[in-house]
Amino acid sequence: MKWINRNDSEANYEDRRGRGRGKRNAAVGGLGAIVIAVIALLLGQDPFQAVNMVNSVVPDQSTEVITDPSRVNENEELKVFTLGVFNSANDVWSEIFRTQLQQNYVKPTLVTFTDATVSECGGATASVGPFYCPADQKMYIDLNFFHQLRSEFGAKGDLAMAYVTAHEVGHHVQHLLGIINQVNQYRGKISEREQNRLNVKLELQADFLAGVWVYHAQKMNMIQLEPGDLESAISATTAVGDDTIQKRSMGYSVPDSFTHGTAAQRTYWFRKGMQTGDISQGDTFNDPSLN
Ligand SMILES: [Zn+2]
Repeated sequence: MKWINRNDSEANYEDRRGRGRGKRNAAVGGLGAIVIAVIALLLGQDPFQAVNMVNSVVPDQSTEVITDPSRVNENEELKVFTLGVFNSANDVWSEIFRTQLQQNYVKPTLVTFTDATVSECGGATASVGPFYCPADQKMYIDLNFFHQLRSEFGAKGDLAMAYVTAHEVGHHVQHLLGIINQVNQYRGKISEREQNRLNVKLELQADFLAGVWVYHAQKMNMIQLEPGDLESAISATTAVGDDTIQKRSMGYSVPDSFTHGTAAQRTYWFRKGMQTGDISQGDTFNDPSLN
């Protein structure tokens, strides 16, 4: 993937690299590691899981201080890339909201952190993976995740990384459109199995929306795809499929417990978004194949 026009604005960016809350971080890390162990490998935690998990860790209200000066510029290249994708996605969605939805697009904030941080959805450790918090409209990422994506998941290349960021911005789009709220209304009122099914639809739609970004970012002359990019993105959507992750961690998969969709489903919806660029084709909630 090549940049044709990269928007480096830091207007909606909060840099917390190398910042933390001293001793508090150890507590968050310890607890988080236990609670989050199984899902540690998941990409793009869905917001409810993130909320449920991290609520067990009560964030304090102290301000973030630089605790590790040597890490404030860690992964600078990845930061520049991620911020570029984030801004590009916001520019694409601003345009789609204005021209197709006649709605105002409110930009989310990108937060980069090191090891642990706090969000309105609770505290979070790097092991959660990138996530979006609807309560503060921010997406959180420890950039070291991208090293993990490459080494542990074998997903290499720019479009694999771009997909991760575009997927989280996709959750923000779902938040603005009221889709996350609608799904949330069912929490506790339906069986766990049904909740998982709704979650899968939410996640697959975010994958679709990530694909829609790829389509329009090319059209709007922001990025240019290169040979190998599609394969790169597909290696990521495959790696984060529930079946792939369960097989890696347990040696077999349990479809009823899927919350993000299979590798094939994630790849299918991402590609569909990327090929059509048409938001009207992304209704995963009424898709016969998912019911
Ligand atoms: Zn997600």
